[in-house]
Order: sequence, then C-alpha cells, then structure tokens
Amino acid sequence: MENCIFCKIIKGEIPTKKVYEDEEILAFYDINPAAPIHILVIPKKHIDCIAHLNKEDEVLVGKIYGVINKIAEEKGFKEQGFRVIVNSGKDGGQEVMHLHFHILAGRKLGEKIV
Ligand code: 5GP
Ligand code: ZN
Repeated sequence: MENCIFCKIIKGEIPTKKVYEDEEILAFYDINPAAPIHILVIPKKHIDCIAHLNKEDEVLVGKIYGVINKIAEEKGFKEQGFRVIVNSGKDGGQEVMHLHFHILAGRKLGEKIV
C-alpha cells in the first residue's frame, strides 16, 4: 500500500526498533510511547482496520495474540500485566490506517474506560 507509514516500515523504508518479525507479523517500538513499554504489533499484509478484516484474516489475528504473549514473556512483563489496545476508524481515534495492536506495559495503567 503506497503512502502507508507502516507498509513503509515493513519494507524497511522507515527505520524502527524491531522487537519481533516473522513472515506475517512485525512488532516494533512506538515512536511516541504512552507507557514505559509501548510496542506496536502489525500484520505485514495491509489491512486498514478491524472493520476491514476478512474471514480469512481471523487466523492471522489469532497469531498476532500469540506474538503479543511471546513478546510479553520475552520482555518480562507477562506476569505483571499489560494492556492491548486496537483503535479502529475515526471515532476509535485511529491515526495510522494499517491495523495495529498497541501493547502498553511497565507501569500501572489508569483511565480504564470499560
Ligand atoms: P493510532 O492512533 O493509529 O492507534 O496509533 C498510531 C501509533 O503509531 C501512534 O502511537 C504513533 O506514535 C505511532 N507511529 C506513527 N508513526 C510512527 C513511525 O513512523 N514509527 C513508529 N515507530 N511509530 C509511529
Ligand atoms: Zn499499510
């Protein structure tokens, strides 16, 4: 997808600090962290947002949660706890229109909305 920041990151055109990579999934540190640990996990396939997921993407989403757990384990915050946020669309506050899972960890997170 042209002009997509995250597709450019996947292609190596924009540098990032990588946390995890396989054929389908990439994880890297957020440029503007909202917590001591703020990692973004993205599918390499360009999907705009949750609302644009197809039935065939459901396996991929499951794998993303597997990667999230792997990262939590490796970075040592699995037991302490963490939060996963996916903003979707305009009202959801999504700024980058390439599906991404925020992992926030490293402090007691406040402002629970549910
Ligand atoms: P959204 O608001 O779309 O859910 O979150 C987009 C996230 O992407 C933000 O937390 C923002 O800091 C992060 N971000 C935007 N551009 C870049 C970039 O070029 N590199 C990295 N590492 N993160 C980015
Ligand atoms: Zn993209």
